[in-house]
Amino acid sequence: MTVNEASVSELRGFSAEETLTWVRTHFGGRATFACSFGAEDMVLLDMLAKAAKGDGGDIRVFTLDTGRLFPETYDLMQETHEKYRIPIQVVGPDTAELEALVSKNGPNLFYESVDNRKACCNVRKVHPLSRALKGSEAWIVGLRRDQSAERSTVEKITRDTSQGGIWKVCPLADWSWEDVLAYVKANEVPINRLHATGFPSIGCAPCTRAVKPGEDPRSGRWWWETGAKECGLHPTTHGRAVAGV
Ligand code: SF4
Repeated sequence: MTVNEASVSELRGFSAEETLTWVRTHFGGRATFACSFGAEDMVLLDMLAKAAKGDGGDIRVFTLDTGRLFPETYDLMQETHEKYRIPIQVVGPDTAELEALVSKNGPNLFYESVDNRKACCNVRKVHPLSRALKGSEAWIVGLRRDQSAERSTVEKITRDTSQGGIWKVCPLADWSWEDVLAYVKANEVPINRLHATGFPSIGCAPCTRAVKPGEDPRSGRWWWETGAKECGLHPTTHGRAVAGV
């Protein structure tokens, strides 16, 4: 089935489950889910795992292991493996690239300058992501509009020009944080225990801290910097609708 601008417009009114079904129908094994183990991604993983028990288990799942994640995140990865028993490909940084970066700048280079921080994110996240997406025609992510000002116009599907124009699908684009927690509770989905201690958004341990109630959920990421709180995984396309939709 061909994906085109007209078919994309259908997705605006779809639930998250309907969106995942649509992705399976249109892309099958050519779609992949990037699981960060945040609460949103645990919701999507739960939905995909349930679909896998039926006829929809062909969407590949991968995660980016930067090597600097919280111990709590690794605990959740283990718990997820034991609960769902679905294969999750772990994609890490290129060894030579990482060794060169850390040898030259030290392990905590990100605190020294924005350029150093971006260099670290590139080596540990952005380059591995490009490798993980190679050959895919669509990738699924857990972005929501109310996560931050930068994400306030996220669409359910866009062309991702930063990844060669493959489709980027956000089934939870119109979900609130409360919707996420309600699904987690109703479906007994395991989530990172850091969420209960002031971490709505969880990234690498040295670059994430807790936020106070009412603060921007992503303000704990790279808190020493000002401006947009993005690492380069979602740089340009999520705020724009597909042309004509
Ligand atoms: Fe490096 Fe921090 Fe980016 Fe993680 S979030 S890749 S530790 S700069």
